[in-house]
Amino acid sequence: MLGERLPGGPGRAAGGGVIVAPLPLFLRPLLAPSDDPVGPAPAPAPLAPPAVARRIDPAGARARASHDLLASQLRARTTAAPVPVSSTAGYARLTPEEQAQLTLLTTGDNPIANATRAQVDALTSSAAFRAATPDQQAAMLREVLQTPALKQMNQVDAHREAPVPPIAGPTEVKSHRFKNPDGSYTNKPALRYDVTIDGRVVPVFVAQPVDPNSTQPSVEQIAKGLASLPPESRSRVNEVRVDNKPNPEAFMYAGDDGIVNIWPPKWKQAQPQIDAIMLHETGHIISSQEWGSSRRPEPEWKQWEEAAKKDGCVPSEYAKKNSREDFAETYALYMMVRSTPQEAAVRAMFPARFAMIDEMLKNA
Ligand SMILES: [Zn+2]
Repeated sequence: MLGERLPGGPGRAAGGGVIVAPLPLFLRPLLAPSDDPVGPAPAPAPLAPPAVARRIDPAGARARASHDLLASQLRARTTAAPVPVSSTAGYARLTPEEQAQLTLLTTGDNPIANATRAQVDALTSSAAFRAATPDQQAAMLREVLQTPALKQMNQVDAHREAPVPPIAGPTEVKSHRFKNPDGSYTNKPALRYDVTIDGRVVPVFVAQPVDPNSTQPSVEQIAKGLASLPPESRSRVNEVRVDNKPNPEAFMYAGDDGIVNIWPPKWKQAQPQIDAIMLHETGHIISSQEWGSSRRPEPEWKQWEEAAKKDGCVPSEYAKKNSREDFAETYALYMMVRSTPQEAAVRAMFPARFAMIDEMLKNA
């Protein structure tokens, strides 16, 4: 599932990039649909800060609290030019493994390295970092290792838009099933459009009536989104359903039935976001089809968690939510960098998980 932090609204940095607003209040436990591959929601914590990925750094709350204090000072007065992190006293206090991980995550021109480098530069140029003791600096650098600068993969701007593929229709459908946030279904009248890509038809059902002020993506945007997917992703999409009623929990959702459910988002979404979120959702389709849902988990999910531990980093903040979201975000990253000059560097950051995706695609 994806959409809790929709880009494009308040909080979206001008000119694209990082969402800096605090977590919205609606980041509350999901009303998981019955076949949600994400599984039951965790215990409620409506106003708590986002969970920190303990699997990467089990360091205690003390370091975090000290970081929070320093981070607030950092925001208050950021002054000097960035210095090479490797020349700082805090860096010298990191273990060789931590140093290697930091180097890996900040080297090269790719979505992860670019975001992490900006994060480290902001940190080392801050008055707070410069005033900190070596141990405090080391704690702040460890925080970088476990808190990715990228919130979601759909913040990556590198993107090429696909042309609009042929769309036939619409034809009127008296009644079609639409998924509700609680996992139940409501039958609604709909318009059916048939999108043809590479000789295969993907039907798009749009619930009627559509509010003229609706924020929902247009059929053309959805068709372009489908066309932008890698073939391995698109072949898994059996149908798209566009509801006419918002779901406060999500913008899109997809599971092992290969149906992409879309609800009107809080704000109108641009094509790059629609494409990237659709790619993320196909990660859920593939993983739940190949490795099972949370109620019927296959051993691959255990292997995935071990692979994530071995890799020691997460592709985005959203990926920390659970292993299903970690897969969807890693899968989106894998597809974004595949066959590009960035692939080798990113593969080096996520070697165990990329190898599992290689294997999955080979056997699928
Ligand atoms: Zn998701």
